[in-house]
Amino acid sequence: MSNEKILVTQSSMPPYEEYIEAIKPLWDSHWLTNMGMYHQELEEELKKYLDVPGLSLMVNGHMALEMAIQAFGFPEGAEVITTPFTFISTTHAIVRNRLEPVFCDVKLSDGTIDETKIEDLITEKTAAIVPVHVYGNVCNVEAIQKIADKYNLKVIYDAAHAFGVKYRGKGIGNYGDASIFSFHATKVYNTIEGGAVTFSDHKFYEKLYNLKNFGIRGEELVSDIGANAKMNEFCAIMGLCNLKHIDEAIAERKKRHACYMERLANVEGISFFEKKDEEDSNYGYFPILIDGSGEKTRDGVYEELKRHDIYARKYFYPITADQACFRNKYRNVKLHNARMLARQVLVLPLYEKLDMEKIDQIVKYI
Ligand SMILES: *Cc1c(COP(=O)(O)O)cnc(C)c1O
Repeated sequence: MSNEKILVTQSSMPPYEEYIEAIKPLWDSHWLTNMGMYHQELEEELKKYLDVPGLSLMVNGHMALEMAIQAFGFPEGAEVITTPFTFISTTHAIVRNRLEPVFCDVKLSDGTIDETKIEDLITEKTAAIVPVHVYGNVCNVEAIQKIADKYNLKVIYDAAHAFGVKYRGKGIGNYGDASIFSFHATKVYNTIEGGAVTFSDHKFYEKLYNLKNFGIRGEELVSDIGANAKMNEFCAIMGLCNLKHIDEAIAERKKRHACYMERLANVEGISFFEKKDEEDSNYGYFPILIDGSGEKTRDGVYEELKRHDIYARKYFYPITADQACFRNKYRNVKLHNARMLARQVLVLPLYEKLDMEKIDQIVKYI
């Protein structure tokens, strides 16, 4: 077959004419950013789609997480319990807020933070928990909330992978004190670059508004010390366009997900993360675990696919705690499961337009 490169994902885009038509009014208005009408419209639409009471659009998912953490005003040096089995952004957002990450191991079953190990890590300095719904796998939100309530901690979910995921019929952004989403080009839903914070406390909207727009509240009034993290109108329009097609995109992903699952179900040495019954997935990723008991190791499969121009990804390897910038800097915690998953995991290509025949090919090479 063709020699085209197959990457782990491909950005969703609306039909060209649809986007061009949608951005035309910007040439009349000359209003390109600063919380314009499309920014406002997208906030409203996303609140509906994500089924959340409050939402603030941001320039990207990382800044959404930085701002969400900053909005709580934790004292400098306070400890934040988090997972190392994630994209580096999660840990960066904590450290860049001058807080101390305390890594907690994850569960082998779904890669999310092991809620049974959180309590042992709590000290007088603990201020928050930052778990990740990794690959859209829902954390044990009930148990985490119970711990947070008992010790008076805030919970901020990194839901960057979980756009459109529901748990017990509720949008995933309703859990914890706040959640962040990423609308990066590589995610299930994109605004080219973009992100959002979701929350239920309405005061939070004002705080985030200040943080994302220099704290400017009037022509001559700056009431808060803010950064610049607002989304521009071109991105907001991309978001409005992509939102029209998101259900269809997720349905297409679901078909491909099922196709992989069926073909890989009985392959020796390969296993999968578990999903909870009460969880509605967005089929954002197709991670497999290769334990090395079969013919090839994870790295062997990765290389074999690469030889055929198929670029699977070792998400997330190494774990963030082992990255050069963080290694041996923070409290030494046993992270056996996280490291094991990082050695075994391979994310296979999955996107709405991925050829079904390509999936057969990928499976054959595996
Ligand atoms: C993508 C991602 C982010 C950062 O989002 P950006 O929009 O790329 O800034 C944060 N956390 C996780 C887990 C991610 O995958």
